[in-house]
Amino acid sequence: MITRDNFWLPEARRLMWVMLYGLIFGYLTGYWQYCFMLVGFGYIGWTLYKLYELQSWLASDQQLNNMPDSSGAWEQIAYLIHRGDKKSEARKKKHSELMLRFNNIMAALPDASVLLDSDHVIQWTNPSAMTLLGINDSRDYGQRVDNLVRIPQLTQLLEKPSEREIRFVSPRNEKVTLSARLFPVEPGLYLLSVRDISQRIQLNKMRKAFIANASHELRTPLTVLTGYLELFEEDAALPEHILPAVQQSRRQTARMEQIIADLLVLSRLESPEMQLVEESDIDMALLLEKTQHALQDTLGDLHQFSNHINRQLKISGHEKDISSVINNLLENAVKYTPAGTRIKISWQSNARGLACLTVEDNGPGIASEHIPRLTERFYRVDKGRSRDKGGTGLGLAIVKHVMMNHNGQLTIKSRPGRTRFSACFPAERIATTANRPRSA
Ligand code: ADP
Repeated sequence: MITRDNFWLPEARRLMWVMLYGLIFGYLTGYWQYCFMLVGFGYIGWTLYKLYELQSWLASDQQLNNMPDSSGAWEQIAYLIHRGDKKSEARKKKHSELMLRFNNIMAALPDASVLLDSDHVIQWTNPSAMTLLGINDSRDYGQRVDNLVRIPQLTQLLEKPSEREIRFVSPRNEKVTLSARLFPVEPGLYLLSVRDISQRIQLNKMRKAFIANASHELRTPLTVLTGYLELFEEDAALPEHILPAVQQSRRQTARMEQIIADLLVLSRLESPEMQLVEESDIDMALLLEKTQHALQDTLGDLHQFSNHINRQLKISGHEKDISSVINNLLENAVKYTPAGTRIKISWQSNARGLACLTVEDNGPGIASEHIPRLTERFYRVDKGRSRDKGGTGLGLAIVKHVMMNHNGQLTIKSRPGRTRFSACFPAERIATTANRPRSA
């Protein structure tokens, strides 16, 4: 091992010998000064020669077998340089192996990855970026990605970086739909990840088409069945013991009709093509009153309603869908609570400027484990009770979709003795002057 001592010791010893020769010659000749100068120049000359040897060796291929040899510092220095070079060579090799592996992994990824700086300038891309976006790492390095891929949604995402997903048609193939997300990597550096979702969209379309077709197909035979059952029910000649069976069948067909109607509503609400074309300003106070009266007529007047309604607060939206939100929330508050329950209906704008419909009851409540799943299709806390009450298990799924299509949100909070459903619409949907400052 090379240490500081064995590094300099031979050199110090050599210098001592040189001085000793100077002393001996000086003593023998009596020319001290000349003798010391002579041996001193000799030592300097030798040192310069070794330096020259080292420099030549460093400039050559630095093989160990032709390393400048001397037992002193020069050989040690040459050895240390050689060892340092070997280490950094090994490090370089390891780095290039790692880079190669990383590049192979990125090349195997089906998703396009594009590394961008804060000015949206391309720093690096993987091969899939070529397939999906037509961006090539070597050709397009240093170009702005929004100059190469001119998609308005992408430009918006780059201008306001967030991790939200955007979807757009591939610039290379109009049959391919892409989804893109932007992830911050480090300050001033973003990773744009783009994925081909055409297959997923196709499968979704097929699933929706299947549900819609099956529902339509079932509708016709059900209408026929309902017609006959109604006839039997009203037929005075029907034997008395058959009547309960006919009535039960009639109730079940009505339930099936309701399930089919709800499924068709859901598949309409879910389709991305579904745009709120029939938007209008909605008088929520009027809708709430109508629904409340209709409910009291059908389900009886056993609950105590209290209303806190801002009559001026109107929103723009799809009236039929918003009416089904009101209907589902009010109907549930009546259906799943015992007679005498107080139901508070509120339609107000809140501190955050959202327009919120809140339906609150002091019924038995919903256990916390069920709450996150209530908006799933056919999810019911108590299946038997829901069926008895004519529920389809699709009501809250419809509410959630209507709210999503109106850029709003449904929140559910419940504890024993208090259940609250809040459907909040964004401020942009408010079509009222009631809460705006009055102009002078
Ligand atoms: P359903 O057609 O069965 O009423 P929903 O999707 O409307 O389906 O509701 C899902 C479930 O949520 C219901 O089955 C019921 O168990 C529960 N639920 C909804 N509203 C209330 C409420 N106000 N109080 C207690 N449970 C409720």
